[in-house]
Amino acid sequence: MTIDSANPETLVLHAGYRSDPETNAVAVPIYQTTAYQFEHSQHAENLFALKELGNIYSRIMNPTCAVLEERVTALEGGAAALAVSSGQAASAIAIQNIARNGDNIVSSTDLYGGTWNLFANTLKNFGIEVRFVDPADPNAFRQATDARTRAYYAETLPNPKLKVFPIREVADIGNALGVPLIVDNTAAPIICKPLRHGAHIVVYSATKYIGGHGTSIGGIIVDGGTFDWEKHAERFPLLNQPDPSYHGAVWTEAVKPLGPIAYVLKARVTLQRDLGYAQSPFNAFQFIQGLETLPLRMREHCRNTQAVADHLADHAAVETVIHPSRQNGEAKRRADTYLQGGYGGLVGFELKAGMEAGRRFIDALKMFYHVANIGDARSLAIHPATTTHSQLSAEERLATGVSDGYVRLSVGIEHIDDILADLDQALAAAAG
Ligand code: PLP
Repeated sequence: MTIDSANPETLVLHAGYRSDPETNAVAVPIYQTTAYQFEHSQHAENLFALKELGNIYSRIMNPTCAVLEERVTALEGGAAALAVSSGQAASAIAIQNIARNGDNIVSSTDLYGGTWNLFANTLKNFGIEVRFVDPADPNAFRQATDARTRAYYAETLPNPKLKVFPIREVADIGNALGVPLIVDNTAAPIICKPLRHGAHIVVYSATKYIGGHGTSIGGIIVDGGTFDWEKHAERFPLLNQPDPSYHGAVWTEAVKPLGPIAYVLKARVTLQRDLGYAQSPFNAFQFIQGLETLPLRMREHCRNTQAVADHLADHAAVETVIHPSRQNGEAKRRADTYLQGGYGGLVGFELKAGMEAGRRFIDALKMFYHVANIGDARSLAIHPATTTHSQLSAEERLATGVSDGYVRLSVGIEHIDDILADLDQALAAAAG
């Protein structure tokens, strides 16, 4: 039985699984198995030939991971998904699935540092050039595109600047030129549905808000099923020409009986098979638990973060508060267009007294954890100038939006009075 609903609160509890057909267990079982018994030799042949879809080996698919994949697909309004071992694996596969040596992608400059490194160094070493452009001007994506451009890439709500990406504007440019838009929605689940705004592929680090409890590393790629890979066959030979790694399959042809899932099916049965970024079924179970309360948690994260932003804005020790609610002009218009139900769980602020005050503030925190992470149910803080951005020069740091006194908070779901009390006492200590 499937539950017919478009509401995220319901989908996260019911999509893709009702009860275990063997045992009637209500919670999704952890299928901790490597392999699956074939019913007979024809069954095995059909599975390998993709004449029917089914379990073969857990590096490629697993029933616990499949529930997570179906739930996130339903939540995003996509066609199908692939669970992988980390958010980094999701970004890497999302690109390597369509780009190879000699190709390029165009990416927003506003990225998580790990993604920046993947793009600027590792993909470069693989022969894939990443052209970075400022997302303030969507036209920059058009200008950087050529015949070898295979994708556009961006984050919905990138920190530290917290300026929402112009999803529709860049997706429209991509539609006109035949280039799909991949959006990392890690910081904005529930409050942004990138596929609805024209993005073609969504990636997540499930490690953050989806898991929500800081227990597991994982990622997921959702194929919107909306990009016409066949129409742009010249740009996408990896999906339109016979694949020697899969007895000459042409992915856009092979998937026709299965739906518009050429992109994600190829990622599963070639890259996931060969590179082995499989998500463990135990982690998938943890993410399924996290998903069940994701809409509730996001509501609280947004409410508490807004209260923190408003509180800090009135504080004598604070120079500036960085939060979408406090932006103006085009940045604010984008935040209001693409985020619904709140502005997310991240807020930044600059301490007037700079670097030393940042150190003192962090050391004085009692409830906030000092960690390089976001999206946990607990409140987290970091001073990027002395940690994540410490390898950069002062000028480079400023260009990424990190001043000496900048502090990033990932506001949790504790009681707001306790959150504000901890911030106030740490701000007092920072003042010296
Ligand atoms: N994308 C964003 C926006 C992130 O913040 C992170 C991690 O911090 C990642 C991707 C990478 O995720 P993971 O740590 O699960 O590999």
